[in-house]
Amino acid sequence: MSANLFSATYRQARERFLDAARASGAAIRSHVHPRKGAEGEEIAMDAALIGPADASSLFIVSSGTHGPEGFSGSACQLGLLGDSLATRAGQNDTAILLIHAVNPFGFSHLTRTNEDNIDLNRNFNDFSQPYPPNDTYEEVHPLLVPAIWPPSDADEALLATRMQELVGRRTPGVSSGQAVHPDGLFYAGTAPSWSNSTVRAILREHGAGRRHIAWIDVHTGLGPRGHGEKIFGRHSAETQARAMAWWGRDLIVSTMAQSVSPRTAGHITSCAPQECPDAALTPMTLEYGTLPNPDVRRALRGEAWLFGHPDAPPAVAAAIKRAARDAFYVDADDWKGMILGQFRALALQTLNGLAQP
Ligand SMILES: [Zn+2]
Repeated sequence: MSANLFSATYRQARERFLDAARASGAAIRSHVHPRKGAEGEEIAMDAALIGPADASSLFIVSSGTHGPEGFSGSACQLGLLGDSLATRAGQNDTAILLIHAVNPFGFSHLTRTNEDNIDLNRNFNDFSQPYPPNDTYEEVHPLLVPAIWPPSDADEALLATRMQELVGRRTPGVSSGQAVHPDGLFYAGTAPSWSNSTVRAILREHGAGRRHIAWIDVHTGLGPRGHGEKIFGRHSAETQARAMAWWGRDLIVSTMAQSVSPRTAGHITSCAPQECPDAALTPMTLEYGTLPNPDVRRALRGEAWLFGHPDAPPAVAAAIKRAARDAFYVDADDWKGMILGQFRALALQTLNGLAQP
Protein backbone atom coordinates (compact mmCIF):
# COMPACT_ATOMS: atom_id res chain seq x y z
CA MET A 1 0.00 0.00 0.00
CA SER A 2 1.25 3.49 -0.69
CA ALA A 3 0.33 7.17 -0.63
CA ASN A 4 -0.74 7.12 -4.28
CA LEU A 5 -3.89 5.23 -3.25
CA PHE A 6 -5.29 8.60 -2.12
CA SER A 7 -7.28 10.48 -4.75
CA ALA A 8 -7.60 14.24 -5.26
CA THR A 9 -11.35 14.36 -5.91
CA TYR A 10 -14.44 12.22 -5.34
CA ARG A 11 -14.69 11.68 -9.09
CA GLN A 12 -11.18 10.26 -9.27
CA ALA A 13 -11.70 8.16 -6.13
CA ARG A 14 -14.88 6.65 -7.57
CA GLU A 15 -13.29 5.83 -10.94
CA ARG A 16 -10.32 4.15 -9.31
CA PHE A 17 -12.52 2.22 -6.90
CA LEU A 18 -14.78 0.92 -9.69
CA ASP A 19 -11.80 0.02 -11.92
CA ALA A 20 -10.09 -1.91 -9.13
CA ALA A 21 -13.32 -3.63 -8.08
CA ARG A 22 -13.95 -4.75 -11.68
CA ALA A 23 -10.37 -5.99 -11.99
CA SER A 24 -10.76 -8.07 -8.83
CA GLY A 25 -13.93 -9.71 -10.14
CA ALA A 26 -16.18 -8.11 -7.52
CA ALA A 27 -19.95 -8.04 -7.92
CA ILE A 28 -20.72 -4.32 -8.16
CA ARG A 29 -23.96 -2.41 -7.75
CA SER A 30 -24.07 1.38 -8.04
CA HIS A 31 -26.83 3.26 -6.23
CA VAL A 32 -27.00 6.55 -8.12
CA HIS A 33 -27.76 9.68 -6.08
CA PRO A 34 -30.47 12.08 -7.35
CA ARG A 35 -28.12 15.09 -7.27
CA LYS A 36 -24.93 15.82 -9.24
CA GLY A 37 -21.38 16.21 -7.97
CA ALA A 38 -19.19 19.32 -7.79
CA GLU A 39 -17.93 18.74 -11.35
CA GLY A 40 -21.42 17.91 -12.66
CA GLU A 41 -20.55 14.22 -12.48
CA GLU A 42 -22.83 11.35 -11.54
CA ILE A 43 -22.49 10.55 -7.87
CA ALA A 44 -23.37 7.24 -6.25
CA MET A 45 -22.96 4.89 -3.34
CA ASP A 46 -21.10 1.95 -4.90
CA ALA A 47 -21.19 -1.50 -3.30
CA ALA A 48 -18.62 -4.13 -4.29
CA LEU A 49 -18.77 -7.71 -2.99
CA ILE A 50 -15.56 -9.73 -3.20
CA GLY A 51 -15.53 -13.45 -2.58
CA PRO A 52 -18.23 -16.10 -2.26
CA ALA A 53 -21.77 -14.68 -2.26
CA ASP A 54 -22.85 -17.39 0.20
CA ALA A 55 -19.93 -17.07 2.65
CA SER A 56 -20.97 -17.38 6.31
CA SER A 57 -19.01 -14.30 7.34
CA LEU A 58 -19.00 -10.79 5.89
CA PHE A 59 -16.41 -8.05 6.44
CA ILE A 60 -17.84 -4.61 5.58
CA VAL A 61 -15.63 -1.56 5.05
CA SER A 62 -17.50 1.70 4.43
CA SER A 63 -16.11 5.09 3.43
CA GLY A 64 -17.28 8.68 3.18
CA THR A 65 -20.11 8.65 5.71
CA HIS A 66 -18.86 12.16 6.40
CA GLY A 67 -18.13 13.35 2.86
CA PRO A 68 -14.45 14.34 2.51
CA GLU A 69 -13.48 11.90 5.28
CA GLY A 70 -13.92 9.51 2.36
CA PHE A 71 -10.52 10.37 0.89
CA SER A 72 -9.04 8.11 3.56
CA GLY A 73 -11.72 5.43 3.60
CA SER A 74 -11.56 5.21 -0.19
CA ALA A 75 -7.77 4.78 -0.08
CA CYS A 76 -8.16 1.98 2.51
CA GLN A 77 -10.72 0.26 0.27
CA LEU A 78 -8.50 0.62 -2.80
CA GLY A 79 -5.60 -0.83 -0.81
CA LEU A 80 -7.70 -3.81 0.25
CA LEU A 81 -8.80 -4.44 -3.36
CA GLY A 82 -5.16 -4.82 -4.36
CA ASP A 83 -4.15 -6.88 -1.34
CA SER A 84 -3.72 -10.64 -1.10
CA LEU A 85 -5.75 -10.45 2.13
CA ALA A 86 -8.88 -10.05 0.02
CA THR A 87 -8.25 -13.21 -2.01
CA ARG A 88 -7.35 -15.22 1.09
CA ALA A 89 -10.57 -14.17 2.85
CA GLY A 90 -12.66 -16.27 0.45
CA GLN A 91 -10.76 -19.41 1.46
CA ASN A 92 -11.94 -18.82 5.04
CA ASP A 93 -15.62 -18.64 4.12
CA THR A 94 -15.59 -14.84 4.32
CA ALA A 95 -16.76 -12.29 1.77
CA ILE A 96 -15.75 -8.62 1.78
CA LEU A 97 -18.27 -5.86 1.11
CA LEU A 98 -16.87 -2.43 0.29
CA ILE A 99 -19.38 0.43 0.48
CA HIS A 100 -17.82 3.40 -1.30
CA ALA A 101 -19.04 6.94 -0.51
CA VAL A 102 -21.94 6.54 1.89
CA ASN A 103 -22.37 10.32 1.49
CA PRO A 104 -21.35 10.86 -2.14
CA PHE A 105 -22.81 14.38 -2.26
CA GLY A 106 -20.64 15.52 0.64
CA PHE A 107 -17.58 13.66 -0.67
CA SER A 108 -17.82 15.42 -4.04
CA HIS A 109 -18.89 18.84 -2.71
CA LEU A 110 -16.47 18.72 0.25
CA THR A 111 -19.05 18.86 3.03
CA ARG A 112 -19.06 16.54 6.01
CA THR A 113 -22.87 16.64 6.00
CA ASN A 114 -25.14 15.48 3.18
CA GLU A 115 -27.24 17.41 0.63
CA ASP A 116 -29.62 18.49 3.43
CA ASN A 117 -26.90 19.39 5.94
CA ILE A 118 -27.65 16.14 7.80
CA ASP A 119 -24.86 14.54 9.79
CA LEU A 120 -25.36 10.92 8.71
CA ASN A 121 -23.88 9.58 11.94
CA ARG A 122 -26.81 11.22 13.78
CA ASN A 123 -29.46 10.14 11.23
CA PHE A 124 -29.91 6.40 11.90
CA ASN A 125 -32.63 7.03 14.47
CA ASP A 126 -36.04 5.77 15.37
CA PHE A 127 -37.95 8.73 13.93
CA SER A 128 -41.16 7.68 15.68
CA GLN A 129 -39.49 9.04 18.82
CA PRO A 130 -38.36 12.66 19.36
CA TYR A 131 -34.60 13.21 19.05
CA PRO A 132 -33.02 13.76 22.50
CA PRO A 133 -32.90 17.50 23.36
CA ASN A 134 -29.42 19.04 23.40
CA ASP A 135 -29.28 22.06 25.71
CA THR A 136 -25.49 22.14 25.47
CA TYR A 137 -25.62 22.70 21.73
CA GLU A 138 -28.36 25.32 22.15
CA GLU A 139 -26.04 27.38 24.33
CA VAL A 140 -23.38 27.76 21.65
CA HIS A 141 -25.33 27.50 18.38
CA PRO A 142 -25.36 31.31 17.69
CA LEU A 143 -21.60 31.44 18.25
CA LEU A 144 -20.89 28.30 16.20
CA VAL A 145 -22.90 29.55 13.22
CA PRO A 146 -22.65 33.36 13.28
CA ALA A 147 -24.54 35.70 10.94
CA ILE A 148 -21.34 36.75 9.19
CA TRP A 149 -18.44 34.58 7.96
CA PRO A 150 -15.60 34.67 8.75
CA PRO A 151 -16.54 35.43 12.36
CA SER A 152 -15.08 38.38 14.25
CA ASP A 153 -12.15 37.91 16.66
CA ALA A 154 -14.46 38.89 19.53
CA ASP A 155 -16.94 36.12 18.60
CA GLU A 156 -14.09 33.63 18.33
CA ALA A 157 -12.76 34.53 21.78
CA LEU A 158 -16.24 34.22 23.27
CA LEU A 159 -16.78 30.81 21.64
CA ALA A 160 -13.39 29.55 22.87
CA THR A 161 -14.31 30.59 26.42
CA ARG A 162 -17.75 28.95 26.23
CA MET A 163 -16.32 25.72 24.79
CA GLN A 164 -13.76 25.63 27.62
CA GLU A 165 -16.55 26.01 30.20
CA LEU A 166 -18.43 23.11 28.61
CA VAL A 167 -15.47 20.71 28.91
CA GLY A 168 -16.45 17.89 31.20
CA ARG A 169 -20.18 18.50 30.72
CA ARG A 170 -20.53 15.72 28.23
CA THR A 171 -24.15 14.55 28.40
CA PRO A 172 -25.07 15.60 25.88
CA GLY A 173 -22.00 17.21 24.33
CA VAL A 174 -22.04 19.94 21.69
CA SER A 175 -21.45 17.33 18.98
CA SER A 176 -23.88 14.72 20.33
CA GLY A 177 -26.40 15.75 17.69
CA GLN A 178 -29.44 18.01 17.50
CA ALA A 179 -32.64 18.07 15.48
CA VAL A 180 -33.66 21.71 16.04
CA HIS A 181 -31.37 23.70 13.70
CA PRO A 182 -31.33 22.45 10.07
CA ASP A 183 -28.59 25.01 9.39
CA GLY A 184 -26.55 24.00 12.42
CA LEU A 185 -23.82 21.49 13.18
CA PHE A 186 -24.44 17.79 13.91
CA TYR A 187 -28.01 18.05 12.56
CA ALA A 188 -29.78 14.67 12.75
CA GLY A 189 -32.59 15.43 10.30
CA THR A 190 -36.25 14.55 10.81
CA ALA A 191 -36.49 11.49 8.54
CA PRO A 192 -34.17 8.80 7.11
CA SER A 193 -31.85 10.33 4.49
CA TRP A 194 -31.17 8.87 1.03
CA SER A 195 -27.90 7.46 2.39
CA ASN A 196 -29.67 5.86 5.35
CA SER A 197 -32.22 4.04 3.14
CA THR A 198 -29.52 3.05 0.63
CA VAL A 199 -27.15 1.60 3.24
CA ARG A 200 -30.03 -0.41 4.67
CA ALA A 201 -30.89 -1.79 1.22
CA ILE A 202 -27.24 -2.80 0.67
CA LEU A 203 -27.16 -4.55 4.04
CA ARG A 204 -30.35 -6.47 3.28
CA GLU A 205 -28.97 -7.53 -0.11
CA HIS A 206 -25.58 -8.69 1.13
CA GLY A 207 -26.03 -9.34 4.85
CA ALA A 208 -28.99 -11.73 4.78
CA GLY A 209 -28.10 -15.24 5.91
CA ARG A 210 -24.65 -14.37 7.25
CA ARG A 211 -23.53 -15.90 10.51
CA HIS A 212 -21.23 -13.04 11.44
CA ILE A 213 -20.77 -9.49 10.17
CA ALA A 214 -17.78 -7.28 11.02
CA TRP A 215 -18.04 -3.62 9.99
CA ILE A 216 -15.38 -0.93 9.98
CA ASP A 217 -16.67 2.56 9.10
CA VAL A 218 -13.66 4.78 8.34
CA HIS A 219 -13.64 8.40 9.58
CA THR A 220 -11.19 11.28 10.02
CA GLY A 221 -11.07 14.54 11.98
CA LEU A 222 -10.78 13.60 15.67
CA GLY A 223 -7.80 12.75 17.85
CA PRO A 224 -4.01 12.98 17.45
CA ARG A 225 -2.68 13.44 13.90
CA GLY A 226 -2.49 10.11 12.07
CA HIS A 227 -3.57 7.97 15.01
CA GLY A 228 -6.49 5.64 14.31
CA GLU A 229 -8.73 5.45 17.34
CA LYS A 230 -10.75 2.26 17.38
CA ILE A 231 -14.14 3.39 18.63
CA PHE A 232 -16.67 0.87 19.83
CA GLY A 233 -20.28 1.68 20.76
CA ARG A 234 -22.56 0.30 23.44
CA HIS A 235 -22.93 -3.45 22.91
CA SER A 236 -23.25 -6.59 25.01
CA ALA A 237 -20.36 -7.64 27.22
CA GLU A 238 -19.86 -10.68 24.97
CA THR A 239 -19.57 -8.53 21.84
CA GLN A 240 -17.20 -6.11 23.55
CA ALA A 241 -14.99 -8.97 24.75
CA ARG A 242 -14.84 -10.38 21.20
CA ALA A 243 -13.99 -6.97 19.73
CA MET A 244 -11.17 -6.50 22.25
CA ALA A 245 -9.85 -9.99 21.54
CA TRP A 246 -9.69 -9.17 17.82
CA TRP A 247 -8.59 -5.54 17.84
CA GLY A 248 -6.72 -5.12 21.14
CA ARG A 249 -7.02 -3.55 24.56
CA ASP A 250 -6.71 -0.08 23.02
CA LEU A 251 -10.25 -0.40 21.68
CA ILE A 252 -12.07 2.63 23.07
CA VAL A 253 -15.66 2.21 24.12
CA SER A 254 -17.36 5.47 23.08
CA THR A 255 -19.22 5.71 26.36
CA MET A 256 -15.88 5.86 28.26
CA ALA A 257 -14.52 9.25 29.33
CA GLN A 258 -11.27 9.02 27.35
CA SER A 259 -12.95 8.60 23.95
CA VAL A 260 -12.31 11.37 21.42
CA SER A 261 -15.93 10.98 20.36
CA PRO A 262 -18.90 12.04 22.52
CA ARG A 263 -22.00 9.92 22.98
CA THR A 264 -24.20 10.28 19.95
CA ALA A 265 -27.58 8.98 18.79
CA GLY A 266 -28.23 7.64 15.30
CA HIS A 267 -24.93 6.01 14.43
CA ILE A 268 -24.69 4.28 11.01
CA THR A 269 -23.70 0.80 12.23
CA SER A 270 -26.72 0.76 14.55
CA CYS A 271 -28.85 -0.26 11.54
CA ALA A 272 -27.05 -3.60 11.08
CA PRO A 273 -28.94 -5.53 13.79
CA GLN A 274 -32.21 -4.22 12.34
CA GLU A 275 -31.43 -5.20 8.74
CA CYS A 276 -29.49 -8.42 9.51
CA PRO A 277 -31.05 -9.67 12.76
CA ASP A 278 -29.67 -13.22 12.45
CA ALA A 279 -25.99 -12.24 12.26
CA ALA A 280 -23.58 -11.63 15.13
CA LEU A 281 -22.15 -8.14 14.67
CA THR A 282 -18.68 -6.78 15.49
CA PRO A 283 -18.59 -3.08 14.51
CA MET A 284 -15.99 -0.35 14.77
CA THR A 285 -15.76 3.33 13.92
CA LEU A 286 -12.15 3.92 12.91
CA GLU A 287 -11.33 7.59 13.54
CA TYR A 288 -8.05 9.04 12.28
CA GLY A 289 -6.73 12.33 13.67
CA THR A 290 -6.01 15.23 11.30
CA LEU A 291 -5.76 18.80 12.64
CA PRO A 292 -6.23 20.23 16.17
CA ASN A 293 -9.86 20.18 17.28
CA PRO A 294 -10.51 23.98 17.08
CA ASP A 295 -9.37 23.94 13.42
CA VAL A 296 -11.68 21.05 12.59
CA ARG A 297 -14.56 22.72 14.44
CA ARG A 298 -13.99 25.96 12.52
CA ALA A 299 -14.18 24.02 9.24
CA LEU A 300 -17.52 22.49 10.30
CA ARG A 301 -18.84 25.92 11.28
CA GLY A 302 -17.90 27.37 7.92
CA GLU A 303 -19.65 24.48 6.20
CA ALA A 304 -22.85 25.04 8.22
CA TRP A 305 -22.71 28.80 7.56
CA LEU A 306 -22.31 28.18 3.82
CA PHE A 307 -25.32 25.84 3.81
CA GLY A 308 -27.39 28.74 5.18
CA HIS A 309 -25.80 31.24 2.76
CA PRO A 310 -25.79 29.55 -0.66
CA ASP A 311 -25.30 32.95 -2.36
CA ALA A 312 -22.03 33.63 -0.51
CA PRO A 313 -19.25 35.29 -2.57
CA PRO A 314 -17.33 32.60 -4.53
CA ALA A 315 -14.05 33.40 -2.77
CA VAL A 316 -15.64 32.90 0.67
CA ALA A 317 -17.27 29.63 -0.46
CA ALA A 318 -13.98 28.38 -1.95
CA ALA A 319 -12.09 29.14 1.27
CA ILE A 320 -14.69 27.22 3.28
CA LYS A 321 -14.43 24.18 0.96
CA ARG A 322 -10.64 24.30 1.12
CA ALA A 323 -10.77 24.38 4.93
CA ALA A 324 -13.16 21.41 4.97
CA ARG A 325 -10.84 19.36 2.77
CA ASP A 326 -7.80 20.26 4.87
CA ALA A 327 -9.64 19.43 8.11
CA PHE A 328 -10.42 15.86 7.03
CA TYR A 329 -7.60 14.96 4.67
CA VAL A 330 -3.94 15.63 5.43
CA ASP A 331 -2.15 15.70 2.09
CA ALA A 332 1.19 14.44 3.44
CA ASP A 333 2.89 11.10 2.75
CA ASP A 334 3.70 10.33 6.40
CA TRP A 335 0.04 10.78 7.35
CA LYS A 336 -1.19 8.65 4.46
CA GLY A 337 1.25 5.90 5.42
CA MET A 338 -0.12 5.88 8.97
CA ILE A 339 -3.70 5.61 7.67
CA LEU A 340 -2.96 2.67 5.38
CA GLY A 341 -0.64 0.80 7.75
CA GLN A 342 -3.05 0.87 10.66
CA PHE A 343 -5.94 -0.07 8.41
CA ARG A 344 -4.15 -3.11 7.00
CA ALA A 345 -3.39 -4.41 10.49
CA LEU A 346 -7.05 -4.00 11.44
CA ALA A 347 -8.25 -5.70 8.27
CA LEU A 348 -5.98 -8.66 9.00
CA GLN A 349 -7.17 -8.84 12.62
CA THR A 350 -10.78 -8.69 11.46
CA LEU A 351 -10.36 -11.47 8.90
CA ASN A 352 -8.55 -13.62 11.48
CA GLY A 353 -11.37 -12.97 13.95
CA LEU A 354 -14.07 -13.89 11.45
CA ALA A 355 -12.20 -17.09 10.51
CA GLN A 356 -12.53 -18.43 14.07
CA PRO A 357 -15.35 -20.93 14.52
ZN1 LIG B 1 -16.67 11.26 10.66
